[in-house]
Amino acid sequence: MKYYAGVDLGGTNTKIGLLDKSGKILIKETIKTFSGKGMETTLKRIWETIEKLMAEKKINKEKIGGIGIGIPGPVINQEIVAFFANFDWEANINISKAMEKISGVPTKLENDVNMIAIGESKFGAGKGSASSITVALGTGVGGGIVVNSKLISGISGAGGEIGHMKLVENGKLCGCGQRGCFETYASATGVIREAKSRLAINKNNLLYKSLEGNMEKLEAKDVFDCAKAGDEFSMEIVNYVGNYLGMGIGNLLNIINPEIIILSGGVALAGEILLDVVTEKLKQYALPVTLVNLEIKLGELGNDAGIKGGIALFL
Ligand SMILES: [Zn+2]
Repeated sequence: MKYYAGVDLGGTNTKIGLLDKSGKILIKETIKTFSGKGMETTLKRIWETIEKLMAEKKINKEKIGGIGIGIPGPVINQEIVAFFANFDWEANINISKAMEKISGVPTKLENDVNMIAIGESKFGAGKGSASSITVALGTGVGGGIVVNSKLISGISGAGGEIGHMKLVENGKLCGCGQRGCFETYASATGVIREAKSRLAINKNNLLYKSLEGNMEKLEAKDVFDCAKAGDEFSMEIVNYVGNYLGMGIGNLLNIINPEIIILSGGVALAGEILLDVVTEKLKQYALPVTLVNLEIKLGELGNDAGIKGGIALFL
């Protein structure tokens, strides 16, 4: 029996788990990333934690089949990180080799959202499917595309960056510097931005009342909660967001034609109220043939998707 280590390297925290071949987590731990201490120190601390978990489970090193690490940035060929989104570590470094040198265990990397996607596809909502697209609706919109059980990572690691698909010519300004990106409309940030601009001119609604004058505390969840409570103003925002979500997903369906769309992240927790709008809008944007056998599901792995993806790279 082989075991694997899955690592989800985050800006603040790093999640580390030991798993068996079926994707079951035997033990896991979260450590502070402390990326400021440098790449090598961080990798060493990660390996020490893996060793500690191995000792606790009485698993020796020969039984570890590989280490899979999810990286906040584009990853080339599952080994080189083109750049780190939020660490000041050097660009174009072969992190896989560096980790192998420290640990003596084969190491593969993937972009963190791609890792969630492959985790969901093998062990979560996409289990048993060959093709799925995970749409991660959080602060931004991330994605991961799995075709024939393989991730589409792209030649420079930008495969699956669905959040920067253009939906509106000269549309809203995105963090990437371009305009009209999917994520400026369908992310939590996009929902908040749209709600605030509407609240500036319309205060006669439940959403405004629920904020008690404190616009700063507005979250995407408030919009969805008020819409569920029957607030027409909030429902119009849900329709607006759902329209772009339908357009973005519709475009993806027309290109990839997957079996399953997996929605994950905070905005997906809005649930049916948003899903109903998206399903209706898809009829307008997706070719009918792409919808025939399509399933739209919510992600099932939650916070563990990243570390589960880590082992999927070795299967
Ligand atoms: Zn963008």
